[in-house]
Amino acid sequence: MSLHISREHAEMLDKKDPIACKRDEFFIEEGTIYLDGNSLGPAPKSVFDSIDVTMREEWAKGLIRSHNTAGWFMLTDTLGDKIARLLGAGQGEIVVCDTTSLNIYKTLHAALSMQPNRKRIVAEATSFPTNLYMAEGVASTCRDVSIALEGSDGDAIEDLIDEDTAIVMLNHVDYRSGVIRDVKAITELAHSMGAMVMVDLCHSAGVIPVDLRDLNVDFAVGCTYKYLNGGPGSPAYAYAAKRHHGKFTQPLSGWHGHAAPFKFEQSYRQGEGARALLCGTQHTLSMRALQSGLAIFDDVSVSELYEKGKALSDFFVSLVDGFADELGVGFYSPKDVNLRNGQVSLTHETGGYAIVQALIERGVIGDFRQPNVMRFGFAPLYLRYVDIWDAANHLHDVLKSKEWTHERFNVVATVT
Ligand SMILES: *Cc1c(COP(=O)(O)O)cnc(C)c1O
Repeated sequence: MSLHISREHAEMLDKKDPIACKRDEFFIEEGTIYLDGNSLGPAPKSVFDSIDVTMREEWAKGLIRSHNTAGWFMLTDTLGDKIARLLGAGQGEIVVCDTTSLNIYKTLHAALSMQPNRKRIVAEATSFPTNLYMAEGVASTCRDVSIALEGSDGDAIEDLIDEDTAIVMLNHVDYRSGVIRDVKAITELAHSMGAMVMVDLCHSAGVIPVDLRDLNVDFAVGCTYKYLNGGPGSPAYAYAAKRHHGKFTQPLSGWHGHAAPFKFEQSYRQGEGARALLCGTQHTLSMRALQSGLAIFDDVSVSELYEKGKALSDFFVSLVDGFADELGVGFYSPKDVNLRNGQVSLTHETGGYAIVQALIERGVIGDFRQPNVMRFGFAPLYLRYVDIWDAANHLHDVLKSKEWTHERFNVVATVT
């Protein structure tokens, strides 16, 4: 036997899983083990009918009236309020709109607009690249604004926060390693220095408990196509703490962020609350798809999901640990499950990309991140312990047989 824990053990864990039935709410093809829900969640079964009704009834028959009668126009707010319940935010503090990249741009500007005498954005050099690119975009359009990065301008973010810092941009969870950051402690420090905090929740929303009120951050952003299962290209969300409502401005002053969009006034008057972060018309079909993704969270708590996600990833770590040294696999993520979200990233000196491709051919879908990280996400809503066992077993076999060295696994695709 290749693994030191039996498959029967995994079957037994599945029998005891209190939220095992949630898997039935997703379309997952026979033979697919989906370990990439941290990049794009799978399709909820309810989404097909929902999109069909939106097309055939609301659009085809309802036409323009559906903005009112089917609630299209307010989906930015109604879905924002649903996400708020998952993230410990209040009603009216979150809007669903645009992309995470754009929401980063708007919230960084919003924070700068509230503190005109502070000129620095502090962030992590290991941040998801778009976050840094957008910060560069903000700096390039704001006089004297500069960026200081943890990991290149200083070793610890705490040392970079000073009286010139306007906003600290944090990733709640690191996208490569899955490591959870102590956002609350950094926010306390930032506030004591008079600076604000914006946190990116892309890799935590829906898998680890987030309480925005308790974290006390000023702004937050996140995407919905990962663990929230909103579908390809589904819109992102933006959070502005209530205490800041009416006090910030942002430069993408489109008509949906206007105080009275349908008065068609000649100049911009910023709307109330988080709606001031809106810009223009949103993708209604994508918002409908997101609605199906969010409905799945109605009868399950994020803390239950977190517990199962930890158990799944812990199980994977113990299985891989059994052959890691022998077959040249390293742990990029910390082994301690309390330090990371439901994700395990592994390394291999030469084979990272090709190993992931060989696994995909076997139906085990993970992904690869530069320079040598094989990422496996363990989304607790639809994964079973037997999936984890099978995935580890495939990984073992791909390595042991050196299957990954085959030429066809070594051709790099556009999207990894
Ligand atoms: C996935 C992800 C994004 C994606 O940004 P888009 O604008 O939706 O493409 C941004 N930041 C982080 C941390 C992410 O994980």
